[in-house]
Amino acid sequence: PMRNPIESPLPNRTTPNSVISTTPNDMSNWARLTSLWPLLYGTSCCSIEFASLIGSRFDFDRYGLVPRSSPRQADLIITAGTVTMKMAPSLVRLYEQMPEPRYVIAMGACTITGGMFSTDSYSTVRGVDKLIPVDVYLPGCPPKPEVIIDAITKLREKIAREIYEDRTEPQQVKRYFARNHR
Ligand code: SF4
Repeated sequence: PMRNPIESPLPNRTTPNSVISTTPNDMSNWARLTSLWPLLYGTSCCSIEFASLIGSRFDFDRYGLVPRSSPRQADLIITAGTVTMKMAPSLVRLYEQMPEPRYVIAMGACTITGGMFSTDSYSTVRGVDKLIPVDVYLPGCPPKPEVIIDAITKLREKIAREIYEDRTEPQQVKRYFARNHR
C-alpha cells in the first residue's frame, strides 16, 4: 500500500499524556503538505485525466487538495497539456500571482518536452520548465489518475523534507536559472 506522507513530518514522540513534540519547520511542512490547493491549468487532453481525479472514484479531496480557480488562493499548479508560445506569458503571470511557497507538477509529455510537438513546431513551448521551476515531472500520454496521485504523494514527501529557508523564492529562482541558463 502507498505510504501516507501525512504521518512523516511529525516525529513519533509521544508521552503517556499524549503530548507531541515537534519543530516549527516540521509543523509548517505538515500544514502545507496536507492542504495543497491546486490551480487548475488544463490546456488539452491531459486535463481530462486530471478532471477524473475530482470525482468520487479517486476522491482527490481526501489529500486536502481543494481545486481553485484563482492563483491567489493556490500554492500548487498542475500544468496539464500543451503550452503554446502564445500562452506562455499568461502561465508565467499566473505562477507569479501565486503566494509563496508555490509548487509545480508538470503533467504529460506535451508539458514536459513539447511531446509530439517537440519537433517541427513553431508554436509550442518545448518544456514548461523553460518558463517556471518544476518540482515533479509526471510523464505519460496521458498519465493515468493513479499516477497523478503518485506524483502528488512524491510532492508531499518532498515538502515533508523541506527546510523552510531553502524554499525561499530567491534561492529557488537562483537554482532554476543556474540549471537552465548555463
Ligand atoms: Fe494530450 Fe498526450 Fe499531450 Fe497529454 S501528453 S496533452 S494526452 S497529447
